[in-house]
Amino acid sequence: MANKDAFTRSYVGKGIPGADEYGYTIVWNATSNFLKPSSYITIHNKNYCLYCGKEMKVIQMNGDYKIIGYCCTCEKAEKEISTYEKIKNIKGKCFEKCEILKEKLPKVNVSKIKKNLLNSINNKKNSFDLWDLDIKIKNPYEE
Ligand SMILES: [Zn+2]
Repeated sequence: MANKDAFTRSYVGKGIPGADEYGYTIVWNATSNFLKPSSYITIHNKNYCLYCGKEMKVIQMNGDYKIIGYCCTCEKAEKEISTYEKIKNIKGKCFEKCEILKEKLPKVNVSKIKKNLLNSINNKKNSFDLWDLDIKIKNPYEE
């Protein structure tokens, strides 16, 4: 669903200011759970759409009506939202593929390497006491 779908037609009664000839008015449902935020610019504490310049609509928490974001319903704002959803989706798939690839990395047995290193050192220098080697593995691809 798009942000513009949060506009709903609501009956308020014939003759009420803002109502159409049948007594309906268009209401913004700020607590719709499908609303997605879009980019805006703030000028003198008012938020305007970065794309069309209209004042932003609020997105509120269902229940306590706390403002949790701002959105616009214009075509470009909707395009921004759908583009970021695609990016998020691609990143998610990419992350999953990377995790699958990481499982294919050669397995490392640190204790075996440690033991082999100790044996090697002991064989070369009998004067060495056994020590606890402090081995750190550094992978340049991982932080
Ligand atoms: Zn807009």
